[in-house]
Amino acid sequence: MDLLRISDLRVDFPAEAGLVRVLDGVGLEIKKGKSLCLVGESGCGKTIVALSIMRLLLENAYVSGEIRFNGQDILLLEEAEMRKIRGREIAMIFEQPATCLNPVFTVGDQIAGAVRAHEKCSRKEARKRVIELMEMVGIPSPRRRCDQYPHEFSGGMQQRVMIAIALAFSPSLLIADEPTTSLDVTIQAQIVELLKALIVEFNTSLLLITHDLAIAAELCDSVAVMYAGEIVERGSVKEVFKNPKHPYTGALLGAISSDGFRPIKGSVPEFIRLPRGCRFHPRCSLSQDVCRHVSPKMRNGVRCHLWPEN
Ligand code: SF4
Repeated sequence: MDLLRISDLRVDFPAEAGLVRVLDGVGLEIKKGKSLCLVGESGCGKTIVALSIMRLLLENAYVSGEIRFNGQDILLLEEAEMRKIRGREIAMIFEQPATCLNPVFTVGDQIAGAVRAHEKCSRKEARKRVIELMEMVGIPSPRRRCDQYPHEFSGGMQQRVMIAIALAFSPSLLIADEPTTSLDVTIQAQIVELLKALIVEFNTSLLLITHDLAIAAELCDSVAVMYAGEIVERGSVKEVFKNPKHPYTGALLGAISSDGFRPIKGSVPEFIRLPRGCRFHPRCSLSQDVCRHVSPKMRNGVRCHLWPEN
């Protein structure tokens, strides 16, 4: 059974010129204990998907479609019901741990805050759990370090604190939004190893949001490629990375090929100025006349007029 099933998710924000659509018909599924990476360049709408699942979008967002978690459409829940799921059943870690941790509280108090948000327990019990969690995510000397403040932790250690907060209740689904982007390469590898071990240990499903395809390949079973608010290709990591069918997926993989970094020409369009037809056509080397006028439908996991080959 799918733990998470998103169908036809659309998100619009009001702007001067009217409503601007930033997600258009997004659909994806994650089974229990499995992991999916959502990849694409910055500005494609990946984080909006994550914030939609957490129900943390700005109040002026218009959201439609379905986000079924354990079979229940969480878009229909009252905020009080959603609060019981957020943090306990679905947890999220962000790109910049430094901006998520409160500089005036100790790290231990902040992890304890997450522990006590969903479970009544004494200060002593909460502290015991904090120390266990810090140990679990590999923070050395947790008894001493839990009384320190975030600025006394390195970027990698701050991200471990964020992971401890996220895993306080062994959530069924962990959303990790660019969890290693702000870290140096060695620390990135350590955080990837930690996430890998924890998702196995807790049997947690993972939605990884990243533009780093190497990390996606390391951590995930399946992949959804996103471009300008739409999913353009879906499939298993093995299949898609070995044999990409959508020209955008091919360009993303080509950009990190072993013979050197080759940036994709052009840039992701702004949502207020989306091109007609296929949104990728101004950057696509295979573009044809039809691509400039007709928006391609998703067929067999690929949104491209050339697939299946005609
Ligand atoms: Fe390229 Fe056309 Fe396919 Fe779009 S539909 S990705 S422009 S070939």
